[in-house]
Amino acid sequence: MGDCILCKLVRGEIGSWRVYEDDFCVGVLDIQPCAPGHCLLVPKKHVERFYEMDDGDLGRLFTAAKKVAKKIKKTYKPDYVCMFIRGGRIHHLHIALFPSKEGDGISGFPQSNYPKTEVDLNKEAEKLRNA
Ligand SMILES: [Zn+2]
Repeated sequence: MGDCILCKLVRGEIGSWRVYEDDFCVGVLDIQPCAPGHCLLVPKKHVERFYEMDDGDLGRLFTAAKKVAKKIKKTYKPDYVCMFIRGGRIHHLHIALFPSKEGDGISGFPQSNYPKTEVDLNKEAEKLRNA
């Protein structure tokens, strides 16, 4: 995955502000933050979707996410730290971690930013139960 921007970031080929690193992943500041302390946690190996990872790697990634979240909590003292798992626009899985205050635009995301969708909850629950 030579062209992947996050693989380049992991290899140090593009600059970043690293705030965490272990043998499995790196944590950096997002260069387009929506709040001070907005971090990205990036697995060192290229993977697109969290549900494609093996359970051990997923556990390591979430353990690291917890460590970075605690750093954010300690530093910025938000009400909580939100986490979004991404990998759509940039095809390398990354976890975004944000400090968030009660009632801000992040805390209610995505429902606060998108119109509600009318669904038959009975039907949707049945589909997922049977998937
Ligand atoms: Zn990659």
